[in-house]
Amino acid sequence: MSPSGGSICKACADGLSHFYTSGSEGKTYQHLTLEGIRQAASQGCKLCAYIKLWVEIEGCCKISPATFDFYISHSKEFLLISHRGIPTLAHEDILLERVDENTYETPPMPEASRLGQTTQSAHSQALARRWMHSCAASHDRCAYRLRTLSNLGSSQLPARLLDLRGAHSNRCIRVVHTETETIEGPYATLSHCWGKNPLIKLRKANLEQFSRRIEIKKLPKTFRDAIEVCGWYNFRYLWVDSLCIVQDSKADWDAESAAMKRIHSNGILNIAASSAVDSSGGLFQRRSPLLQIPLTLDIPKHGTCVLRRPIYAFSKSIKQGPLASRGWVLQEWLLAPRVLHFGEQLFWECPETLSCEAFPLGKADRSEMIGLYQFYPKSFISSLIPDSQLDPPTNKAEIYKAWRGVCREYSKRNLTVNSDRIVALAGIVDLFQSVLADTFITGHWKSTIIPDLCWVCEDERYTSDPRKFGKPNLSKKSVRPPEYGAPSWSWMSVNNEIHWQNGNSSQELAALCGPNRNRSHEELRSGGEGFDHGPWSASTREMETL
Ligand SMILES: [Zn+2]
Ligand SMILES: [Zn+2]
Repeated sequence: MSPSGGSICKACADGLSHFYTSGSEGKTYQHLTLEGIRQAASQGCKLCAYIKLWVEIEGCCKISPATFDFYISHSKEFLLISHRGIPTLAHEDILLERVDENTYETPPMPEASRLGQTTQSAHSQALARRWMHSCAASHDRCAYRLRTLSNLGSSQLPARLLDLRGAHSNRCIRVVHTETETIEGPYATLSHCWGKNPLIKLRKANLEQFSRRIEIKKLPKTFRDAIEVCGWYNFRYLWVDSLCIVQDSKADWDAESAAMKRIHSNGILNIAASSAVDSSGGLFQRRSPLLQIPLTLDIPKHGTCVLRRPIYAFSKSIKQGPLASRGWVLQEWLLAPRVLHFGEQLFWECPETLSCEAFPLGKADRSEMIGLYQFYPKSFISSLIPDSQLDPPTNKAEIYKAWRGVCREYSKRNLTVNSDRIVALAGIVDLFQSVLADTFITGHWKSTIIPDLCWVCEDERYTSDPRKFGKPNLSKKSVRPPEYGAPSWSWMSVNNEIHWQNGNSSQELAALCGPNRNRSHEELRSGGEGFDHGPWSASTREMETL
């Protein structure tokens, strides 16, 4: 932590002293006008300068006149600065989290001046390379993925990759066929939203031409940016779905979409265009460096304190971004050994760390918040990979529970083509199937199918007890798309977020899975004892007739 922070005005000092000492919980205790904020900022108050910048960047000061209320959370861990218009109720909030050395390890924090105005800055590039180097050199849980990559044969590669060798010198790339051409070095994968605009695609008619050359200037911005990011790492190969699968060949599409587990888990890095709604959005974003990093302030009579805005940085910037709403992207994200997310910051995610530019050594999000947002750590999913050297999950109940989490996360996401609902999850299904040695039945597993059938749509939970949850939310009414033929008992038959009424009860699942004890990968793959003899076994036999 920095030895000293920025000075603040009296109004901010009064508010923050309450926050850091005995302030009334859950009560507004201070308010400042916008004019007051501007004046204090010009006189050197760092917090007012921060609020002023936030107002300007976020463009949320269209309501005038306005007040800024400081509000202390009940937990006293959060300070909400709420910007409200008068007399309208419209408001915008800045949520700041107190960074406490006692409960929350604080790595050295970068200076705003070094962060750069965009995620394409020299600082961002250097950090992205440093993350990869640390992951490869010092992460026990990640290094094996590099060893595996060095031995990849053509049967473990995607059918096609983009060869970027001529990207710099000739401004062109080409499609290479991995079965007939030698591949030297690892490949990265790109996750992106296709969007509604026409997208350059590999087709039967241009396959031969694209195998010779594709001019980079004809590619959309997201693809061009991804080629640049591959250059940061000297990666020669990139996999992009629209250019590596022949889009008008059903046979090729079927074969490659069935190989998604292999394609995404064998790539060295997934480049995620997290904030772009379509392929013209690109990877890189302009941002205000000051708003990205924690705020270090000197509070009179209290000392130096640190607040940070990106408390929900990962959840908000990445998990609630446009890319995270896409169904296909779930398996791309979960299966990749490491992901470089491009939001208003860069985020690095691998089985050992979740880092961002503000917290480059990790701690980009709080673990309890991750749980709250149903975020499923890559480390758990990675540990399911059969040749992984990670500790396997201790029991099958945990794996079935993780499956429910995947289902819930997936059910929130959108697919352009409804009939893709099963195939866009096939890579994850493959992974769970190889570990559980269970039978997959349209979104459910044979061993747990009876309790699994008790899924409900999110809107039904709200309508089930109006006294408790308020009026039914009719706008979220679940719909079965007419063109899709999943059986009505499967959660895959609806386009809506689903959950299980009793939550993810470990006890319930454990009862199906036999004794709770440590199991090796080998045991888990072979099924282990107790799995086909649980209390539901007779009923699951009946389900086979469905
Ligand atoms: Zn101030
Ligand atoms: Zn790592």
